[in-house]
Amino acid sequence: MTTTRCSAALDDATLEAWWLGELDAGAALRADEHLLGCAACAQRAQALVAIAHGVHDATRAGAVRAVAGDALLERLAASGLRLREYRVPWNGSVNCTVAPDDDVMVARLQAPLAGVTRLDAVVTRSVDGAMSVLEAWACGLPVLMTEECHLPEGFAAGAAVRIGGGEGMGHLKFEISGGMGLVMAMSDEERAVMGRRGRELVEERFVWPKVARQMRTVYEWVLGTGPKPECVRM
Ligand SMILES: [Zn+2]
Repeated sequence: MTTTRCSAALDDATLEAWWLGELDAGAALRADEHLLGCAACAQRAQALVAIAHGVHDATRAGAVRAVAGDALLERLAASGLRLREYRVPWNGSVNCTVAPDDDVMVARLQAPLAGVTRLDAVVTRSVDGAMSVLEAWACGLPVLMTEECHLPEGFAAGAAVRIGGGEGMGHLKFEISGGMGLVMAMSDEERAVMGRRGRELVEERFVWPKVARQMRTVYEWVLGTGPKPECVRM
């Protein structure tokens, strides 16, 4: 790590635009000149490029599950990746087979979106996915999630619609659009109620003071000075 300071640092948005080639000629020239003469900003630019390459490599290696549009899929296909595509009917599910030479598995979801002004979709099976769910709840939004998010309290509180996510070796089953259809079929009022329950759940259980208190009970249990807390599931 360098300790060099820069008094006129290029901001993140400018660095990003510089990397994507989106700056106009004058701004690009100024950025180039600055990067040539400033070790601190050059190091940040290098880190940005490294992250972009990392995301690119992880995507190509199949480690990224993401919501994609047609433009991205067309670019992936044009870059020589083999895409296997399944169409998931509305309120239906489809069994998929993955072949060894498939690079990318695509599930096209169908749902009635008339009147929907905004739809945020996150695809993940990791604990990070739970963060996305908590963020949506904190914003008072209805949530579709799988069991793998490990937030069963969301189903119990009526703050989320359960969607399937069964997965085995070389075999996946998508049931997402069924849940999406359920949410779409709800009235605005029903969606608002579901979002409110999520918000309440976050305020009840996932704010810092609650989590800190819970962590203390875990530490006490680990040290043998307290009983196994409810939040530890084994
Ligand atoms: Zn600089």
